[in-house]
Amino acid sequence: MRTRTLVKIQEGCSQPCSFCIVPRVRGPERSRPQEEVVAEVKARVAEGYKEVILTGTRIGRYGPGEGLRGLITHILEESDVQRLRLSSLEPSDLTPDLLRLWEDSRLCPHVHLPLQSGSDSVLERMGRAYSTADYQRAVSLAREAIPNLALTTDIMVGFPGESEGEFNKSYRFCERIGFAGLHIFPYSPRPGTRAARMANTVGNGEKKRRTHLMLDLAEGSSRRFRERFLGQEMNVLWEGEKEGIWFGLTGNYLRVFLPSQEQLANELLTTNLVAHKEDGVWGELT
Ligand code: SF4
Repeated sequence: MRTRTLVKIQEGCSQPCSFCIVPRVRGPERSRPQEEVVAEVKARVAEGYKEVILTGTRIGRYGPGEGLRGLITHILEESDVQRLRLSSLEPSDLTPDLLRLWEDSRLCPHVHLPLQSGSDSVLERMGRAYSTADYQRAVSLAREAIPNLALTTDIMVGFPGESEGEFNKSYRFCERIGFAGLHIFPYSPRPGTRAARMANTVGNGEKKRRTHLMLDLAEGSSRRFRERFLGQEMNVLWEGEKEGIWFGLTGNYLRVFLPSQEQLANELLTTNLVAHKEDGVWGELT
């Protein structure tokens, strides 16, 4: 069933993160022409897709015209897309100009902002282009501009040299931010990267322990985020059904479940979020 689809707008990365092989494998940043992307979005909408997700290695570095902001503006102006979602951004992408675009409610209130670590010294060894203070500032701006924002992230655990103190800092930073979702990855070396040659690696047992701690934090954090919306009505794009239970997503990435015999596929329906579920929330049609 056609419900959500990906449209690639950009490829490659020119940032030298010490753990990542992508710049070497995919090459430097290059972007698709704006008209081509807008035309593809229109074509997907004509095929019946209701949600389009703009993807790429670093979509914030989208190049032609007025960059990502210009591209999104053209898509929203020229297409009838009902939902537009961005795959992943960096803290420096979240400028007031870009954030103003969320005044159009078709742009999903969901920002995936990979943090990797909440310790400044680890971020420096990773070669990331921001500090925790930069990250915190970007989050505050985004939360101010986008009501009901779901902020999700990636966290790497056990980067070479990550001390107990650095891990604790990272843990507490994640706790303070209060993410809607965290993807936790234990560090594993990619041959050919600078990080793979770093000394002072974290043992597997310790990596496992830290990963479990972060996973527990992630579970609590996303549950608290979901609970904030119980009792509210939100638009859900229903995607599919398994054993009589339909599943779909809100704009802010809550997975909603609903027992129903009706055909709901690809319907964007106002839904009451009524109860917590292990991996989402239960909904009722209004
Ligand atoms: S982690 Fe992301 S930003 Fe860093 S080098 Fe890899 S693709 Fe680029």
